[in-house]
Order: sequence, then structure tokens, then C-alpha cells
Amino acid sequence: MVRPALRSRSLRRVSRRTPGGRSVVHYERRRPGPARCARCGRPLNGVPRLRPARLRALPKTAKRPERPYGGVLCPSCLAELLRQAVRGAAGAR
Ligand SMILES: [Zn+2]
Repeated sequence: MVRPALRSRSLRRVSRRTPGGRSVVHYERRRPGPARCARCGRPLNGVPRLRPARLRALPKTAKRPERPYGGVLCPSCLAELLRQAVRGAAGAR
């Protein structure tokens, strides 16, 4: 029987092969849910579902789309907000 702390189902079990050829079970924290758009709540593409420590090991360009509000807003919300901003600026003139 494993350590009491490892019996929890909030940890996922991963089967790993050791260099010596033994098969062992490793316990890992589960993956977080997907990053979501701040405006409509739709899951964002191009944002990896990883734990913070794994995320920190990635280059910045692999963590979010490289456009304004990339990783915060989905592309359709951004397009809509940009259209509103342009219309607002034209109306003020
Ligand atoms: Zn959105």
C-alpha cells in the first residue's frame, strides 16, 4: 500500500518504465483546465494546459498567441472590440 497522501484520486497515476526495466507508478497533479477568454469564456487555442512549473519552462512565444490580447481574449472578441474602438473614434470626430 502506498503512502496515505498518494491514495487520493486527486493525483493522477502515470505508468513509467525505469532505466532498469521495471514498471512503476508515478503520481502527478492533474492538468489544469483550459485558459478561457476573459469576455465570452470560450476556451483559448494556443495556450498550453500545463501546471505553472511546466509553463515557466516554456518560451514566452509558446504560451500564448502573439497578437494584442493574445492569451486573454479570443480572436472573435478581439475583432469585435477593435471594431467598436474604431467606430467610437470615428464618431467622436
Ligand atoms: Zn471571447
